[in-house]
Amino acid sequence: MIDRHVALDILEGRISLPEVIQMASKPRFENFGKKVRIHILDNIKNGYCPEDCGYCAQRKNGESGIQEYSLKSEDEILEDAKQAKANGAYRFCMVSSGTGPGDKTIAKLSGTIRRITDELGMKVCLSAGILDQAKANTLKEAGLDRYNHNLNTSDSYYKDICTTHTFQDRVETLQLASNAGIGLCSGVIVGMGESMDDIIAVAMELRRLRVASIPVNFFIPVKGHAIQNPSVLSPEICLRILAVFRLINPDAEIRMAAGREGHLKTMQSTGLFIANSLFAAGYLNVEGSDAKATLGMIRDAGMEPEFSDGMPESWKEALESLDEGLYAEKNFPDLYKFKKSPVPI
Ligand code: SF4
Repeated sequence: MIDRHVALDILEGRISLPEVIQMASKPRFENFGKKVRIHILDNIKNGYCPEDCGYCAQRKNGESGIQEYSLKSEDEILEDAKQAKANGAYRFCMVSSGTGPGDKTIAKLSGTIRRITDELGMKVCLSAGILDQAKANTLKEAGLDRYNHNLNTSDSYYKDICTTHTFQDRVETLQLASNAGIGLCSGVIVGMGESMDDIIAVAMELRRLRVASIPVNFFIPVKGHAIQNPSVLSPEICLRILAVFRLINPDAEIRMAAGREGHLKTMQSTGLFIANSLFAAGYLNVEGSDAKATLGMIRDAGMEPEFSDGMPESWKEALESLDEGLYAEKNFPDLYKFKKSPVPI
């Protein structure tokens, strides 16, 4: 584990990028080999949220126009979970908007978790806001494997991104879930105007809380957001940020999460030398790249997708179509046309 001085040297560019990647890839490969875990999110309830998280299209008064719907039925969620399994999800992540679930919702969620675990054999992660100890215990008894509750940013910057709850509220929920014996998933959103010190502080706090899974999101300026001064994220700083999370939390699952396509751009494959998991087919508010693009990127990095239950048919098909398309002229009609005359620059 690096200290905050080395982390600052990484973020402020005093250590060269190749050296940073080399440092961060060591624990990545030692702990996870060449495996990449694929997570698929399911928004089981969208919008109608009284919280004002500035980065979120579902926040109150956000007027983003995002589709709002109340909690899906157990059968609908089970169908989504089956689909996620068919699409190669290592884990099914259910996300529900709102401050936190009431007792009735906890009862309904518990039944759903039990069915997904028993009938599909999938591991379930739930993100449903603030919990108390009794609710956390009930979810654990239902078989919940992980609870997601992102810290998002540092304690000192939190008031700049949200006023309806505090950083401490979030820390407390993580502690209650941990007390119940549920694994923790908690990450960040970078690019919201935070300082390098804020990034290091939240990476250290996740370490202190022994968080097993850390999604690193890169801020997407969705319609209706309220982040005052978003930062410019180059692919290089995204890699440096991933490396800091890896080196402060060497054995945690570090995920290239929302915004990887737009911010890491052509360096996404390189990001897999640091991170060992990613989301496919969508994030909290927006759609991401599909299975084929994600699989191609994993393969370009020389990595292997990790499936909970063998490679699903849809991924085999995607892999075959990638093989066919690798050098086939028909797949690159514009790239492989003969040049006619000097190309004007
Ligand atoms: S992140 Fe969750 S709690 Fe915050 S506004 Fe969005 S849906 Fe509500």
